[in-house]
Amino acid sequence: MTLDSPHLPYADPALHAHGLFIGGHWLSGAGIPVINPSTGTMLAEVADATIDDALRAVEAADAAAAGWRATPARQRSQILHRWFNLMTEHAEDLARLIALENGKALPDARGEVAYAAEFFRWYAEEAVRVPGEFRHAPSGAHHILVDHDPIGICVLITPWNFPAAMATRKIGPALAAGCTVILKPASETPLTAYAMARLGAEAGVPPGVVNVLTTTQPGPVTNAMLADPRVRKLSFTGSTGVGRGLLAEAAKTVVSCSMELGGNAPFLVFDDADLEAALDGAMIAKMRNAGEACTAANRFYVQSGIHDAFVAGLAQRMAALKIGAGADAGTQVGPMITTRAVQKIDQLVTQAVADGARVVTGGAPLPGTGYFYPPTVLENVSPDSRIAHEEIFGPVAPVYRFDTEEEAIRLANTTEYGLAAYVYSQDLSRALRIGKGIETGMVAINRGLMSDPAAPFGGAKQSGLGREGGVTGILEFMEPKYFAVNF
Ligand code: NAP
Repeated sequence: MTLDSPHLPYADPALHAHGLFIGGHWLSGAGIPVINPSTGTMLAEVADATIDDALRAVEAADAAAAGWRATPARQRSQILHRWFNLMTEHAEDLARLIALENGKALPDARGEVAYAAEFFRWYAEEAVRVPGEFRHAPSGAHHILVDHDPIGICVLITPWNFPAAMATRKIGPALAAGCTVILKPASETPLTAYAMARLGAEAGVPPGVVNVLTTTQPGPVTNAMLADPRVRKLSFTGSTGVGRGLLAEAAKTVVSCSMELGGNAPFLVFDDADLEAALDGAMIAKMRNAGEACTAANRFYVQSGIHDAFVAGLAQRMAALKIGAGADAGTQVGPMITTRAVQKIDQLVTQAVADGARVVTGGAPLPGTGYFYPPTVLENVSPDSRIAHEEIFGPVAPVYRFDTEEEAIRLANTTEYGLAAYVYSQDLSRALRIGKGIETGMVAINRGLMSDPAAPFGGAKQSGLGREGGVTGILEFMEPKYFAVNF
């Protein structure tokens, strides 16, 4: 079987041990080891792009731009549909690849592939429904006509925690809008991005419309692309710290920015909640991807009347989870992405305990190969401890007690982040009232999962700018053009 075969075993890391993908060509290269976090061993090596490579990718995206922009929306839609179909056809292989390079458990990886593919289906449907506007000027002097054009070349930067979905959530709307793109996936998980690029080419995405590059110098390489006047959009998903730096860099050439940044989601449980439903939701909100999610419940605020039963139920469920290598059958909790991630979690838990928390289950890194931290529940956590203010990004559930609605809202809002929140109460008007009071872009009510390609995903405060998904997601990749018209 050759690399150009349409029936590649996409699960084989060796087949994606190359790069870069520029102008429809696969260039040879190496320099970035891809490590399996379940074992600490190397899976493959991918290319390390230089600034010149990145500018070549801009050149390729520019060469393809006019043709893609002129391609009828119906045709762009059909290509995205084919890409969705190919991802679905190869879902098991892609899930396995994600489980190998990211370490997440196979059920999570399968869920991610299905979620990721849906962005192509959703934007295949949205490509043919780009809105315009026609109004009468209030003065009566003229008519207002608003059109939307593709914004131009887009640089897309994605993190390692959802290697497929964070890429499709950007590529889908960008291609639907008529833009060409350069994707820079995270160095820890590039194989999935390269595998998907191959499927995209098979689906009929023309050369240069999607380019993929990996690099050990993300700062200089991104800055060089942002300095090129042909690049008009930066869509970034990652940490708030890196996002702040990129906003400053993009300001130099006034590049349009969409930012999906860090979170510190509160999970509020009121006395009148259905306890079993709240525990089910807590397990999803905390343990999807072993806690390595921007929407992961990071702080559990539980009202005094239900507190003890909730802690006991959560600890029982967390302790029962099966830990193992991501790609092994039966694994429910895989490893963390790196040893550094394990060390950070360990520091947060150790500090919380020093500040008065009690470990109910878990509480220390697991010895042996791979980067494992066990499901952990902490109670009596101080709201001033570091763990209340930083993203844990791991399987640790700190539980705090509260008494009144006002106190719950105040505690939930004591953070610079504002991405997601969860509220459990059987009184819907109370749940909505609390949801209105919490300063986040998204609120899940009596649910542990909110992500949906058909809904606007994004954060308030320092969790981001703009929204991905939903009906407005495509407009992030378009420039409105207003015509003042006299008939
Ligand atoms: P990160 O360190 O900010 O990295 C994200 C991406 O940015 C990677 O591709 C990284 O490349 C690149 N990067 C790093 N420094 C850069 C620079 N100076 N210029 C340009 N690119 C740069 O974040 P992460 O650790 O991968 O991901 C975890 C974070 O992402 C968490 O904070 C999480 O909450 C957030 N996240 C947010 C959402 C959301 O939708 N709001 C979704 C998922 C994750 P390298 O890998 O090569 O360093």
